[in-house]
Amino acid sequence: MQAAVFHAIGKPLQLERVADPTPAGRDVVINVGRCGICGSDLHVTEDAAFHLPAGTVLGHEYAGEIVAIGPAVERARVGDRVAVVPIRSCGECAECLVGQPAWCTTKRLEGGGYGEYSLADERQCVPLPRGLSMADGAIIEPLAVALHGVKLAGIVPGAKVLVIGAGPIGIATAFWARRLGAGRVAVTAASRRREALAMEVGATAFIDPADNGPEAVNKALGGQPEIVFEAVGKPGLIAQSIAQVRPRGTIVVLGLCAAEDHFVPFAAVAKEARIQASAFWDVRDFEIAIDALDAGAVALRHMVTDTVPLAEMPDMFEALRSRTTQCKVLVQP
Ligand SMILES: [Zn+2]
Ligand SMILES: [Zn+2]
Repeated sequence: MQAAVFHAIGKPLQLERVADPTPAGRDVVINVGRCGICGSDLHVTEDAAFHLPAGTVLGHEYAGEIVAIGPAVERARVGDRVAVVPIRSCGECAECLVGQPAWCTTKRLEGGGYGEYSLADERQCVPLPRGLSMADGAIIEPLAVALHGVKLAGIVPGAKVLVIGAGPIGIATAFWARRLGAGRVAVTAASRRREALAMEVGATAFIDPADNGPEAVNKALGGQPEIVFEAVGKPGLIAQSIAQVRPRGTIVVLGLCAAEDHFVPFAAVAKEARIQASAFWDVRDFEIAIDALDAGAVALRHMVTDTVPLAEMPDMFEALRSRTTQCKVLVQP
């Protein structure tokens, strides 16, 4: 099969022929339908700190059809259409049994979506209803990431919410915040490019990047935000969130900032602000995201701005390293 393979930092992914996966135990082979390109894939292929092994096939936001099953598979069937929870775990420990594989001590992040076929444990597969496409299946993972953060925020009905960032996670966060009861949701970003999309998924205001200080935020929300979501991952944004959140409010950090950052602890202490980090998701978050799309939240589909064949994927991947106009790009292997 063909796959876009990582070889070394500073080198583009290489399209090449690799061995077809064979399913052992409870593995299934998935014919990848669509796979989203994630900002974290860009990070791990440009920073040696992540120790990504040569030969890795990335791609963890994917959906596809099961085309082969291992000898010990119990539930999955050939022909099942599934979204994949991209963590392989033991399946037996307390965390795994409650659907939280991210906290299993044996957990391994697993990609494979940048290839024609991928291997997963059947327990990583969440069924896609008939009404959902493979493209829908490929945005379930980022939707689950955002939902997890919104659940951790503890939104109460009518809450005033600020979302910093309008990439796929910021957009999905605005969607869930509103759906889970926020009264007002303001989105702020470096440009106005995603304004229409943000409003379409449920934001009530998009803040002009040229004037996004506390005054503009308070005006858009009718008061200070009780919850601020940081969905960008750049130094300085936690400090900005602390400055903007209302006293005793909550800041949820969804952004993946691998650089050192600083903020003045007193600024947070003086407000008794709660800083809550959010990582991964539960299996249940995937099910809820799938159900939301199936129930008609189709505006979310508009976060997909481009779809490229596998042959064009390495070039697109490099292009995405610099600021681009795309929101979520899908690969069609
Ligand atoms: Zn991702
Ligand atoms: Zn486990």
